[in-house]
Amino acid sequence: MKVLVAVKRVIDANVKPRVKADGSGVELANVKMAMNPFDEIAVEEAIRLKEAGKADEIVAVSVGPEKAQETLRTALAMGADRAILVKTDETVEPLDVAKILKGIAEEEKPGLVILGKQAIDDDANQTGQMLAALLGWAQGTFASKVEVGGETLTVTREVDGGLQVVELKLPAIVTTDLRLNQPRYASLPNIMKAKKKPLDEKSPADYGVTVKTRLKVLKTEEPASRKAGVKVASVAELVDKLKNEAGVL
Ligand code: AMP
Repeated sequence: MKVLVAVKRVIDANVKPRVKADGSGVELANVKMAMNPFDEIAVEEAIRLKEAGKADEIVAVSVGPEKAQETLRTALAMGADRAILVKTDETVEPLDVAKILKGIAEEEKPGLVILGKQAIDDDANQTGQMLAALLGWAQGTFASKVEVGGETLTVTREVDGGLQVVELKLPAIVTTDLRLNQPRYASLPNIMKAKKKPLDEKSPADYGVTVKTRLKVLKTEEPASRKAGVKVASVAELVDKLKNEAGVL
């Protein structure tokens, strides 16, 4: 079975984003970028399926600028076999990414497509669901466990208030939640080897997609800063404050 993994280049999760002075978005110039953390989990899961003999090829895909090559090289260094960069300098929203991934899925015919549950830049949580709808494939979103059977896939989903287990008919779409696995670091020899792995370059037009934005960002603001806390001297004072100041008792 071939596994397709979607990886997005986003601001490094360890960097504190700064809002642009004109409020039009977040500052991206000279900011450290990295693979979306949920996509690292997606790559790791694909590698584990391959190591378990359930998958035979892993293809990593990214839609974005030339620099997204670096993200794909990271996926290759972790263990993906080859990569496809669908190059565009435009802002790509989930629907266009899903349409492009649909085109790639039709060409590559994977048994499974793994995506992150959300990209930490747009927090859309839409691409996997849209892709499943466009392809008419089953989906297991927010996965914390994935088990491949013969023709089926059992996915444990993290839902409000607990876990839900669903059985999907393959081919299927999975989106990863945080507890699915702990992604590995790429070793230096694997980083070197990844430089020689195939990386194809395509354009959205190759999949019949003209990238366009459907959403307009009106304003971006820093979250309100939290008020400083106070230390209380006794339980009685705490109870008094909760009752008379916070009004929660
Ligand atoms: P989103 O719907 O934007 O929150 O993204 C959910 C997931 O879709 C991400 O974790 C990625 O796996 C995938 N994805 C979104 N945008 C891209 C992109 N530009 N290139 C590759 N994968 C993407």
